[in-house]
Amino acid sequence: MAYLSLYRRLRPLAFAQLTGQEHITRTLSHALSRGQLAHAYLFCGPRGTGKTTTAKIMARAVNCHRYPAPEPCGECSSCRNIADGVSLDVIEMDAASNRGIDEIRDLREKSRYASGESRYKVYIIDEAHMLTNEACNAFLKTLEEPPPGVIFILATTDPARLPSTVVSRCQRFDFHLLTVEQIGEKLRQVLADEGWQAEDEAVRLMARLAEGSLRDALGILEQCSAYGEEPLSAEHVRSLTGVTRVETIGALIGALAEGDLEAGLETLQEIIFSGRDLIMLSRDLTFFFSRLLLGGAPGKLRLEESYYGFEALLQQFRGRFARLHLLELIELLHGLAGEMRYAHYPQFILEVAFIRMMRLLHREALSVDSAPVETRIEQTEAVPEEHRVAQTEVRDAPVKSRAEKSPSTEGAAGTKGPPEKSPEKAASPPAPAPEKRMEEPEAASPAAAEEAAWWEQLCERVRVENKAVYRNLNASREHRLEGNLLILSYESGDYAGERVQQKEQRFLLEESCSKVLSRQVSLRVRYEDYAPESAAAEDVPPAISLPREGEGGGGRKEKAAYSFEDAVKLFPGEVFEV
Ligand SMILES: [Zn+2]
Repeated sequence: MAYLSLYRRLRPLAFAQLTGQEHITRTLSHALSRGQLAHAYLFCGPRGTGKTTTAKIMARAVNCHRYPAPEPCGECSSCRNIADGVSLDVIEMDAASNRGIDEIRDLREKSRYASGESRYKVYIIDEAHMLTNEACNAFLKTLEEPPPGVIFILATTDPARLPSTVVSRCQRFDFHLLTVEQIGEKLRQVLADEGWQAEDEAVRLMARLAEGSLRDALGILEQCSAYGEEPLSAEHVRSLTGVTRVETIGALIGALAEGDLEAGLETLQEIIFSGRDLIMLSRDLTFFFSRLLLGGAPGKLRLEESYYGFEALLQQFRGRFARLHLLELIELLHGLAGEMRYAHYPQFILEVAFIRMMRLLHREALSVDSAPVETRIEQTEAVPEEHRVAQTEVRDAPVKSRAEKSPSTEGAAGTKGPPEKSPEKAASPPAPAPEKRMEEPEAASPAAAEEAAWWEQLCERVRVENKAVYRNLNASREHRLEGNLLILSYESGDYAGERVQQKEQRFLLEESCSKVLSRQVSLRVRYEDYAPESAAAEDVPPAISLPREGEGGGGRKEKAAYSFEDAVKLFPGEVFEV
């Protein structure tokens, strides 16, 4: 017999064998035992949570000779035929590859004919959200009033993409991600059934790597067991999946707590060179810090921690980080995974993020003696893009924290020379010295530095959120704050000014700016005629005149009808080349 992958071989044949999803199996069993069937069901939920399996069990149950009963018997000819996949009355359709109107028309035609040997003809439509709009519309009437003896079961990972007209015609069931405990239990059971041996740590590791999907868990188990090592060790699972050892993660966190940048970066190098999955590492760190933030975790959470192997580590570092710092760390790490996914060199992003984390935790200490950070930052100058991000963050961090720590200074942050800040500056005279080196020359004076800080912070925030809004923001010729107004000035006729005022862009800008300044800010756009000699127009040659035919006289050049600026005003758009 051909080899069947583990999850297919172990696919449950009755509701009782299904892992988790009791809220669904119980409802369906009740309905089945009472013979109360809907004509269409919609099973929603993440991958590997049992949607198709449940649909198949339903198909068997409604056609079982013992119907109405809560479960298919598994013995009658109908149950066996459907289980063997030889029944003509249970039709599985993959909407991802049959998504067009023709396929649906075909389905509509065929569903009119009565079923052959079974009580019900059951159509299982997988990945239903992949159906095209036209296909959905063609399907609507059939879905609403299916021919007698037909049941549709739609399964989807993304119900939001299905038209509401389809959703409202179905009985909807939402499948949940499985807990690590449920997956761990199932893995142990499978290991026992198959007669395989595995270290307990290996099982816990596989259970949490599956991220709530049993199919993934069984896939990992199968992959690891194929190696033939007995018992299956945690180290093997780690090397196969790229998970970083808990001890190594502990060393990294220890370095963060101690403020030892050198040691931390060294550990990071080890992780990178041993080929570990860096996105997974950032996820593990996020998990660790969020658990640390929650403090003494109740039973269920503690169990989850044990699957990560983090209990001892959490015990060790409880109380070592301030809550505010933890929040900021989590926020930083949260953006990191997405950033790394699309980066050419994720390791650089991780390293820079680590420096940012260090700076965030130890900025007070580092502002007095920042030599180690400085040297490291200078060394990483080979990465201009990420480096610039780090600089902005590093420079902005103190301002941000002050605004967050003292709500009394609300409204003052970001404006020029707020009185609250001067005592702090006087208290730590060496602070500006190391920071100044990282700043751009024009931001040398304290007021100018602050001015640049909120603006750059805003730009950075918007850049991460939405590139298009960032371009429009960047196109502004001047920016300033007046009370609670963010004023952007644009060259008159610049469409960027129009675009930032559109609902969504305005909302994003106002919200980002409010967050940066910790107060409500609204946007105003002004248009001005900028003189060509202004700094931003350097690359635009001043007043190129377009000589008109027949007027080519040298002396008339000054009085040419259209200057370059006039042309730009007449035809708003982007200038690519002059
Ligand atoms: Zn049966």
